[in-house]
Amino acid sequence: MRFRKDAPPRWLRRWCPDEHVQSVVEITPERLQARGIRALLLDLDNTITPWRSPNVPSEVAKWIRTMQAAGIKLCFVSNTRNLSRLRQLSEQLNIPYARGPMKPRRAMLRRALQLLGVEPQHAAIVGDQLFTDVWSGNRLGIYTIWVRPMHPREFIGTKVSRAIERWLLKRLKPYQEPDETPAPVSPESE
Ligand SMILES: [Mg+2]
Repeated sequence: MRFRKDAPPRWLRRWCPDEHVQSVVEITPERLQARGIRALLLDLDNTITPWRSPNVPSEVAKWIRTMQAAGIKLCFVSNTRNLSRLRQLSEQLNIPYARGPMKPRRAMLRRALQLLGVEPQHAAIVGDQLFTDVWSGNRLGIYTIWVRPMHPREFIGTKVSRAIERWLLKRLKPYQEPDETPAPVSPESE
């Protein structure tokens, strides 16, 4: 689902993503490239792996390889404190990572873009939280994709923000619209 990002009232706009997907695998290189997006910043927990888990589901690993093969530059932007797991996944998946003050601060995202050599208008962020991933991306003016959390198990503090996210989503619903589908070709137009 897409959101008309300019439509919500100003106070709500900062948490409004451009898109909402059920899983990262819905994001295709073609759709990103059609928007001029060459780099994708990736949240880790509950986006690429279940919370605190070192295991990347096979369909997600395959999706990462597809992105890389298509020339989409990737970089992890995670608030995790577990640096050794982040390093290990970074090596395993051949994806660099940026560190810095926690999202929704913008510094980590800026470093990631610097690392990849990409301007904000050619970048997107994907993550499962409105208050960290989407907010930081909106603050930086990059394309934001909100993904449904991979697994219900998560940090206790996150459970509180989930309740607020549900409340926000209700307010964002009126600004949601279905994905654009290719217009059917009618024989008369040929
Ligand atoms: Mg997350």
